[in-house]
Amino acid sequence: MGYLFGPVLSRRLGLSMGVDLLKYKTCNLDCVYCELGRTACLTSCRDRFVPRQKVIKEIELKRSEPFDHLTFAGSGEPTLSLDLGEIVAQAKKIVEAPVAVITNSTLLSSPSVRKEVAAADVVLPSLDAVSQTAFQAINRPASGLLAEEMIAGLKDFRKEFSGEIWLEVMLVRGINDAEAEAIARAAESTEPDRIQLNTVVRTPAEPVEALSEEEMQRMLEIFPGAELIPDWDWSVPARTRDRLIDLLSGKPCTLEEISRQMEIEGSDAIKYCKILEKDGLITRRLYTGKLYFHAVEGLIDDN
Ligand code: SF4
Repeated sequence: MGYLFGPVLSRRLGLSMGVDLLKYKTCNLDCVYCELGRTACLTSCRDRFVPRQKVIKEIELKRSEPFDHLTFAGSGEPTLSLDLGEIVAQAKKIVEAPVAVITNSTLLSSPSVRKEVAAADVVLPSLDAVSQTAFQAINRPASGLLAEEMIAGLKDFRKEFSGEIWLEVMLVRGINDAEAEAIARAAESTEPDRIQLNTVVRTPAEPVEALSEEEMQRMLEIFPGAELIPDWDWSVPARTRDRLIDLLSGKPCTLEEISRQMEIEGSDAIKYCKILEKDGLITRRLYTGKLYFHAVEGLIDDN
């Protein structure tokens, strides 16, 4: 065990079972906003980092656990793994849930990488810059990587891939926000199914600044049709917290049950459970193939 993690509660992917094919932290970028910290191994060379058969075995062992997506992500850039295509293809035969790949887009300029990534159902690429200057400033790429080739790769990928593409744009104050209009035009030209705007809300590698909620709202005029995905208000309203703990003290509930009984959006149920779980007020258990959350106090033993 050790190549799969989660399921984690993800606002974009719901219950996401992660697959990590890398050694910590191997990437061809060293983004200033990276929540994993500085890139330890900055490389553009694709390689084999983990034993492929062991990863496939672990996916088989976890196949009956509940998750909404099996997501290739983790401690660096998944396309650096030469095993990505083969493991994604195998995973599709093993699990029922859609398979997702999160990528920084840089290697989509390679036809063979595009072919491997296209084995997934959903691809979540990033695009944070158009000019090479902004690319260097925000993503600090390994030598030889060019922003224009990354954008061309995204366009080629769209032509070859019929699944869902959810393009993420990370906006950082004073670093790439000045070229938001150019990024918006480039993002549109790559024809993703969704454009998701983000800013720095988790601890970044460098002391960079997020855009405010008002500034991000204004970005929606520059990126028409895009969605905002950052969460500035990382808290649970007191009344919601009490109601949720009360509900989960009475009986364990799935996310769907929480959403229905509390009359809240699924993404809010995910957010609140994430916070209360982190605070040690609720915990999770797997029971008859479903993931249940329950209050730490007043735990009901239903075995
Ligand atoms: S591409 Fe992803 S993993 Fe790599 S440095 Fe940027 S945010 Fe971190």
